[in-house]
Amino acid sequence: MTNHLTVISGPTAVGKGTVVKYILEHFEDVTLSVSATTRDPRPGEIHGRDYFFLTSDEFDRMIEGGEMLEYAVVHGHNKYGTPKGPVLEALAHGKMVILEIDIQGARQVKQAMNEADLIFIAPPSWEELVRRLEGRGTESKEEQARRLKSAEVEMKAQTEFDHVVINDEVPVCAQKVLDLMKA
Ligand code: 5GP
Repeated sequence: MTNHLTVISGPTAVGKGTVVKYILEHFEDVTLSVSATTRDPRPGEIHGRDYFFLTSDEFDRMIEGGEMLEYAVVHGHNKYGTPKGPVLEALAHGKMVILEIDIQGARQVKQAMNEADLIFIAPPSWEELVRRLEGRGTESKEEQARRLKSAEVEMKAQTEFDHVVINDEVPVCAQKVLDLMKA
């Protein structure tokens, strides 16, 4: 049987986004849920494609309206959440749906939809995770330190997941994730 709803989570900078992008580019029957966030767009990010960029009030209205499948404050400041409607619609059309969300969100999805399959993407080692975070250079030193602190906590949560896949090489990791989705 195919697991239609897959939650992909893992520590910051592990490369979840790259793995998910690889899956979407190579396997067209997979849909990625577009999250809502209160953080500002980064250069090149497009509203509705990368995220729905909302004000804090707009975000809270969606929560109050019961429109979020899950939501969380991530890395200590901004809110991120999964709009429920598009996920249910894609599942109703028989699509395989991926949520790429943080660990607090993953827990909430499992509670709301027990059939969801939770996959934790892990780094080959802690040192490699630090190297990847520092290497991508998209965060200030202060933000890097904050994210590494979250990552320590996030790494401990992997035992709560249905599967752990190590991201050593992206195509290999992506294939393993896909095999789990189709298992
Ligand atoms: P970024 O700001 O780098 O795009 O994302 C920061 C973190 O937010 C990532 O760890 C990502 O997994 C998480 N995230 C993105 N979308 C969602 C969401 O809809 N819900 C939750 N709970 N976390 C999310």
